[in-house]
Amino acid sequence: MKPYLREKKTFGFDETPENTAFEAGYLVTVNSGWRSIKPVINAEKCVGCMQCYLYCPDGVISVENKKAQIDYDFCKGCGICSKICKLNAIEMEAER
Ligand code: SF4
Ligand code: SF4
Repeated sequence: MKPYLREKKTFGFDETPENTAFEAGYLVTVNSGWRSIKPVINAEKCVGCMQCYLYCPDGVISVENKKAQIDYDFCKGCGICSKICKLNAIEMEAER
């Protein structure tokens, strides 16, 4: 096995990783240092449909009380969540 490939694991529904804080989370090092834009959630528009959660490649979105939240330590600013949200509840803004 090549060193960058992880051992394949399967999870039960209740064990599915929810975010990077989950013990089986894949990201262990903060990777947001090079981010130039970041997603900002409009809580008034968000209905907690979890589409952004499902599509985020880094697994850094969690949904609590039907509102999405982003772990900015690990968000790389790819913008996929913003594209996938049908309610336009996620705007990409420049880092300051
Ligand atoms: S896809 Fe949009 S509406 Fe759905 S949880 Fe994410 S931000 Fe909220
Ligand atoms: S910008 Fe990319 S990495 Fe950050 S929360 Fe959205 S989909 Fe995930």
